[in-house]
Amino acid sequence: MRDLLGGKGANVAEMTRVLGADRVPGGFTITTEACVAYMEAGAYPEGLQEQVDEALERLEGQAGKRLGDSDDPLLVSVRSGARESMPGMLDTVLNLGMNDESVQGLAKATDNERFAWDSYRRFVQMFGNVCRGIPGEEIEDAIKARKKQAGVEEDTELGVHDLKALTDDLKGLFKDGTGEEFPQDPREQLEQAIRAVFDSWQGDRAVEYRRISRIPDEWGTAVNVQQMVFGNKGDTSCSGVAFSRDEVTGEPTPSGDYLANAQGEDVVSGVRTPRDLHAMKDDMPDAYGELMDILRELERHYSDMQDTEFTVEEGSLYMLQTRDAKRPAQAAVRFAVDAVDEALLGRDAALMTIDPYTLDALLHPHFAPDAEFHVIAEGVAASPGAARGGIVFTAEDAVTAGEEGRDVILVRPFTEADDVGGFHAAKGILTSEGGKASHAALVARGMGKPCVAGAGALEIDLKAKTVRAGDTQLSEGDVIAIDGSRGLVTADEVPLQDAEVSEEFEQVLLWADEVRTLGVRTNADTPEDSRKARDFGAEGIGLCRTEHMFMQSDRQPKMRAMIMAESEKDRRKCLDALLPLQQEDFEGLFETMSGMPVTIRLLDPPLHEFLPSGEELAGELEHARAEGSDDVEKMQETLDRVHELAETNPMLGTRGVRLGILHPEVYEMQLRAIVRAGLAATKISGEAPQIEIMIPLVAYEQELDLMRGLVDGVIEEETGGELDVHVGTMIELPRACFVADRIAAHADFFSFGTNDLTQTALGFSRDDVESGFLNRYMERKIVDRSPFETIDKPGVGWLVRLAAWVGREAKPDLTLGICGEHGGDPDSVAFFHMAGLDYVSCSPYRVPIARVAAAQAAITEASD
Ligand code: ADP
Ligand code: MG
Ligand code: MG
Repeated sequence: MRDLLGGKGANVAEMTRVLGADRVPGGFTITTEACVAYMEAGAYPEGLQEQVDEALERLEGQAGKRLGDSDDPLLVSVRSGARESMPGMLDTVLNLGMNDESVQGLAKATDNERFAWDSYRRFVQMFGNVCRGIPGEEIEDAIKARKKQAGVEEDTELGVHDLKALTDDLKGLFKDGTGEEFPQDPREQLEQAIRAVFDSWQGDRAVEYRRISRIPDEWGTAVNVQQMVFGNKGDTSCSGVAFSRDEVTGEPTPSGDYLANAQGEDVVSGVRTPRDLHAMKDDMPDAYGELMDILRELERHYSDMQDTEFTVEEGSLYMLQTRDAKRPAQAAVRFAVDAVDEALLGRDAALMTIDPYTLDALLHPHFAPDAEFHVIAEGVAASPGAARGGIVFTAEDAVTAGEEGRDVILVRPFTEADDVGGFHAAKGILTSEGGKASHAALVARGMGKPCVAGAGALEIDLKAKTVRAGDTQLSEGDVIAIDGSRGLVTADEVPLQDAEVSEEFEQVLLWADEVRTLGVRTNADTPEDSRKARDFGAEGIGLCRTEHMFMQSDRQPKMRAMIMAESEKDRRKCLDALLPLQQEDFEGLFETMSGMPVTIRLLDPPLHEFLPSGEELAGELEHARAEGSDDVEKMQETLDRVHELAETNPMLGTRGVRLGILHPEVYEMQLRAIVRAGLAATKISGEAPQIEIMIPLVAYEQELDLMRGLVDGVIEEETGGELDVHVGTMIELPRACFVADRIAAHADFFSFGTNDLTQTALGFSRDDVESGFLNRYMERKIVDRSPFETIDKPGVGWLVRLAAWVGREAKPDLTLGICGEHGGDPDSVAFFHMAGLDYVSCSPYRVPIARVAAAQAAITEASD
């Protein structure tokens, strides 16, 4: 019932059933529906107060204690919990029910005065911060001042007297900040805490996190009110976080962190550096053994790797939370393979546990293995992958750098929920405090960003914007590199190297290939890219953009000369010079992709893209004139031509097949190069390459008919009609979708050019949309992500389905593919599977992602 109870509430209830009521503190859950009603009304919805009172009474009955009691008070936590976990983004208040009286009661009942006052000061601190916005720094300063006065380093060393004084200090802060006395009535405390948790759903950091993680705003959060258990009762108590398997590598040994004599917030916030979970074996062997068993049991129950939170109170273990572990791709892949080996899951189920969006990280770079570098600090390997960039010390600076296209590493003592926007913008995260369960580590892994946490040797001065590690002094902007797979930090120029597919990943990909029905090709223009893609499992080239070949430095002058030529004769002369170069390019591709289809798109962009910009040229011309240069005349000619070619809307202008109609000699040269390369490749390998010639931007069937004639003519001339090639078109204009049956009559295949199709169907300029209105559109929930990233299913997707349908009506054996950016986007891949396409084509690095996404689409369809 996670939609209603939130993930945390549903799992706490489920755990109580599985592990028994002795293992999980009792409580009740206020539903997400109540939160939604609260948000709509801006007030407690009708009946909520009564229901809370009722549930509280039941809880008090169960616990045999009463909230605010001056003898042995019940204390509760008030915990947020959305449908999907949003670690640290929403608020939680612990130790609620403490007041000037119940602190005495707690001290007496537990015979532990220090513990009672520690709990009270924690409550004043957390309630003030979370429910009433008392700034965290003010609280930290107050704690620091007390510690200084007491002459101690750690919170745990503060005595009863200090804690009493600190509680007073914190109450003072509360009064200064709110103008009110700290609330003593537990019912009032509870109501304020419940409201605060509801309100945290609308907080800036939660909104930002949802935007990045694509979680709908309408869901709301549940609120869990739960009896407290205490990890801060001395050395036989602790709080911790445990994963059923290593959350970074996926190895089968559980992993985690804990802190003795602490409450959970201390572990998660990264303020104190926790100990490794396995050290518990010596400190609290019984609880440790029980925890290990429980982790296995939960894994079996949920059929997935678990991420849990626990507390040991005077030797007794309590489980406070479990959820399917968010994990970086390497751990996800490792788990999938091990789970099948251990017979925990079948192959399909194992494949479904992998989030294909995270797989990107596996293809992330790492430090070149033979690189020599000086390690200036070591920390916890908190999120895998390597990154290099200039140092920034604040999330805002990271965001600015991201917008300016600079690579940066976000360096902080520890991070907080407000820093999440900076994570997104930074290449990597480095902290001097905290461990694998710290906020920094958790969020970095969720986003697939490399992270080194708890690099204790770093002395970070946020005011001066400097960081020191031993003798190395660095300032903002200085370049550092981190290796989040090994926990290393260096200031040296280490080359980053691309990742290779691990044995386990290969295994997962092979399973994916067995179930998927959608083909996966690649978009590649060079033999290197094609080889890479083939290694990653591409089954052909779905799009070779020939214009890239003309942009290389040895080609560009020839291309420019061709464009400048005055007569067709001169133009043909220039084209003759380009032909052998093009032929070489194609030979290289046919060789690397032998045995697989290679789809070559004829020249697509408007010609002006090959000339210098008019502005630039005008400036140079002026300069040349002033100097009396000999080039003036030639430059003037070029400028004139640039002006001649200029169009108001070049993306809707003379490009694609329109060029082919206007200047058939250009396409003719390309076709000749393709055919000759085909013949040469056949001679070398004894096998004819599978050539597919693709005509871009077709709107009218007549255009394709004319181009097909051109192809046939060249083949006839070059081979006497001997070479077998397929001719097809990119479908990237709405008209082409509507008349797909007519176009199909002249085509062997369609390949949906979903970038242009999105641009033309929506009338959004692809080059401007990101910097223009799109962000506002996402904020206003008109769209939840860029239609250029994930296909707009109802609109553009409908055009694809329509064209596929009528195209196949007209020609049943028509091959259908897609070659826009969407071909590597998992959600879009699922759509293309459902739309019945034959293949997707994407950039080489996305090929493995598309293979997994296609497999998941097939599994989902089969299970529906
Ligand atoms: P988050 O969603 O940020 O993890 P939680 O609601 O899980 O917030 O609370 C954070 C931590 O507070 C938990 O990990 C746990 O250690 C502590 N906590 C929450 N409820 C209780 C409880 N009933 N008893 C003891 N500790 C608790
Ligand atoms: Mg939690
Ligand atoms: Mg296009």
